[in-house]
Amino acid sequence: MTRGAYPAPASRFDSVGFSEIVKVRNRVMDLLAAGETVWRFEGGEPYMPTPGSIKDAMNKALQRNQTRYAPSSGIPELRTAIVAKVARRNGIPADKESPIVVNGGMHGLFAAFATLLNPGDEALLFSPYWTPIVDVVTYHGGVPVRIPTAAARRDGLFRTLEKAVTPKTKVLYWNSPANPTGEVFTRAEVEEISRFVFERGLAVISDEAYEDLIYEGEGHVSPASLPGMEERTISVFTLSKTYSMTGWRLGYVIVPERYRTAMRTVVLYSINGVSTPTQWAALEALSLPDEFLREAKDGYRRRRDRLAAGLRAAGFEVQTPRAALYLFPKIPASLGPDSRAAAQTLLDSARVATVPGLVFGPEGEGHLRFSFSVAEEMISGGVEALAAFAGKELQTR
Ligand code: PMP
Repeated sequence: MTRGAYPAPASRFDSVGFSEIVKVRNRVMDLLAAGETVWRFEGGEPYMPTPGSIKDAMNKALQRNQTRYAPSSGIPELRTAIVAKVARRNGIPADKESPIVVNGGMHGLFAAFATLLNPGDEALLFSPYWTPIVDVVTYHGGVPVRIPTAAARRDGLFRTLEKAVTPKTKVLYWNSPANPTGEVFTRAEVEEISRFVFERGLAVISDEAYEDLIYEGEGHVSPASLPGMEERTISVFTLSKTYSMTGWRLGYVIVPERYRTAMRTVVLYSINGVSTPTQWAALEALSLPDEFLREAKDGYRRRRDRLAAGLRAAGFEVQTPRAALYLFPKIPASLGPDSRAAAQTLLDSARVATVPGLVFGPEGEGHLRFSFSVAEEMISGGVEALAAFAGKELQTR
């Protein structure tokens, strides 16, 4: 090394991107700082605040001086509650050593891929996918292999997956209910995918961030609830969406025995455990009755339907999703199909912030993601701005 020169960052970052959703948010922040009004649909957070009893539980933990190191995989009380929750709600046969408490779903996913991937291993993932996944796989030296979800559902999941699998395939990642499309795999589909995984001897990373946000139809099916699947599935859960706790950074993973030591090691050396008072708050969250979500879900449904109607009126083709927090409409011909350009035009000309579909994979191109989990005034203002924009567009043609 030459004197005075600086070492470069590790080369593993050379092909790892930095979330484009964050870039959109930064542009919005600049506009807001300049005093502009922006109709914000680019986010992905629950619209309501964290329930009071969860905040109180953290306060009480602080008052009891529960502020010291906890076991790095989580406080026993929370791990016990997690075992009971996944048995009752997800049908996953966990034992007391299965759960590891992590710093949100993102950290759980990072630790899961770190546990499983060797450089050169291929990871199958349904696309459109949640943006960070491809980067997390690449960070670990893995090779992401996209499975276009719509085509796979049409042509047969087993058949499509079989075409993509190679001797290097090790993991299948899936996220149902899905960000950004709000689609949910049916039980029959989960069974079909699981049969494939079982026959091919793959591991599954199941991202269940939106398990509780399903508004109609069949409920959520956890792959680890199917016979034998708990032995090959790392199930990743988060309190972020269900309990409006995005900023608390708390999630948990249910890990098969053969992967536990590796995963505990990743968690130990990355965070050495989640903040102790936060874990006590999480224990309170898990003890909230199931009815807790009913009101929140009514609110989500109402927002979803209002935004969908408004977008349709402004010329978007919208399929109403039955889960999660997002609409993923087709961009009208006058604006599309380049989703980055369309998102930029809407931000520049209508002050409406969205996420370009392309950042969720090539299968998302031609679409924009709008979060409907926003204040109702945001929906009315945004829809008005879009209608005015669409009106002007028509006049100039
Ligand atoms: N998975 C999916 C599909 C998500 O959309 C998100 C959050 N946007 C997460 C995981 C992680 O959320 P958190 O890190 O807040 O738990």
